[in-house]
Amino acid sequence: MQIVNIDEYRIYITDTSDKDVDSLLWTYHRCEQIHSDIVYVREEGEGFIKHQADAIVSNRMNTKIAIRVADCSPIALMWKKYFAVVHAWWRWLKSWIILKTIHILKAKGEQDIRLFVWPNIKSCCYTVWPEFTTYFDKKYLIARWSKLYLDMIEIIKDVATDALISSENIIIDPACTYCGKRHFSYRRGDRDQTILLALEKIF
Ligand SMILES: [Zn+2]
Repeated sequence: MQIVNIDEYRIYITDTSDKDVDSLLWTYHRCEQIHSDIVYVREEGEGFIKHQADAIVSNRMNTKIAIRVADCSPIALMWKKYFAVVHAWWRWLKSWIILKTIHILKAKGEQDIRLFVWPNIKSCCYTVWPEFTTYFDKKYLIARWSKLYLDMIEIIKDVATDALISSENIIIDPACTYCGKRHFSYRRGDRDQTILLALEKIF
């Protein structure tokens, strides 16, 4: 597991050395993820959240909010009091789930938000279907040989920039889950293993 301290926050990202992510989960606050654009705001309560959502916003100290991903984009956002984790599936990348989360943080008074994207499947490996040309602007699609690839990072950067997050506050982990060896990848065949991203405010 990779553990990163950033200002008042600690971020946990599991990797292939964490064979049993399920055993970690009981202390983490998370939702039932359903590949939605639903953001759940968690300001009280303990343990597993009986809600379906793919992003969690919280202001609680010393409690880990967590999402699981498998090639989708695990995103952590934070500033002073409020912070969030987002499971961004391609269908919700273009606008809603990230933008909704940023808007909730801003409505809570957070302005100078930092956004981190942890390992996801990058444009080197993320082949998509021809109909993606109807979903996304062609600047996000790369044609190589006879295949089409989606660049989720450029989409996330544009969404964040449009939401007035400054470019120096957008931090991207360069690792690709598919061609890197450090993380599990659904497309590479890891059907039962995922990446867990957890975020905790520690002081
Ligand atoms: Zn790759």
